[in-house]
Amino acid sequence: MTVGVISHHQCLTHHMGDHHPEAPARMAAIQDQLIRSGLDYVIRQFNAKPIDKQWLYLAHDKDYIDSIFSNAPEEGLYHLDDDTVMNPNTLNAALLSAGAAKDAVDLVMSKELSSAFCATRPPGHHAEHNKGMGFCFFNNVAVAAAYAKQQYKMKRVAIVDFDVHHGNGTEDIVKDKKGYLFCSTYQYPFYPFEIKESTKPPIINTPLDATAKSADFRQAILDTWLPALNKFKPQIIFISAGFDAHVEDDMSQVSLVDEDYRWVTDQLKDIADKHADGRIVSVLEGGYSLNALGRSAVAHINGLIGY
Ligand SMILES: [Zn+2]
Repeated sequence: MTVGVISHHQCLTHHMGDHHPEAPARMAAIQDQLIRSGLDYVIRQFNAKPIDKQWLYLAHDKDYIDSIFSNAPEEGLYHLDDDTVMNPNTLNAALLSAGAAKDAVDLVMSKELSSAFCATRPPGHHAEHNKGMGFCFFNNVAVAAAYAKQQYKMKRVAIVDFDVHHGNGTEDIVKDKKGYLFCSTYQYPFYPFEIKESTKPPIINTPLDATAKSADFRQAILDTWLPALNKFKPQIIFISAGFDAHVEDDMSQVSLVDEDYRWVTDQLKDIADKHADGRIVSVLEGGYSLNALGRSAVAHINGLIGY
């Protein structure tokens, strides 16, 4: 099974301020752990290509996308909100980040890779149809999922999200469209706050208490995600892979450990092997404790490989 990691060094040039947690060092932390673990000899590494604007319109309102292009600063900063800031390199990084997810679809559909992990930034799962927020500009996973439907005629596309924050942007984009299943676990009450719990497809929203630990997370996946996924029989699985529910991550109170990311990846790989010819496209979302982020991403990639 060949697993690819898609990235681009220019994603490091998007910078939202010295004390912002969504920092370039996150990507370096993942790369360091890939080398440290020896995985860099096992995986194939690819440079992302910037996505063509036309593909962004599959998931986003045209006026919103055009406004991001026209507001991209040539110098200084442009604020979408207090936490979501463009510098002169942000547009390029965001196009590479969405481009990586699209490239991953092509590589997996052509069977050049069995699955792929996009180690890019900015992340995407908070970006709604017509609004960027929460460190996100383009919804990378939703754009790539829509691309898989459009370009490869995928009829049943699952997107699962284990970031500690709810994937509000992804839900907003897919909720009224046919052929999607979206499953999200998240700490609640927590950013972005206005979330309806749902056990009914196409939206499976499973809140976790702030006190949740490994056993609670695993039980939630077993009780809610896996039955829905097995019933849906996805032809491809997309993962919004955020690692900020880790016990070492100060962003949240939920207390997961490295092995939980391996475990959930194993469960998803089983579903993909059963229904989707093994096809998984995973996209980095959150994860702000640099050491835990690197280790958890390696655990996740090991799960994709199936060691
Ligand atoms: Zn998050």
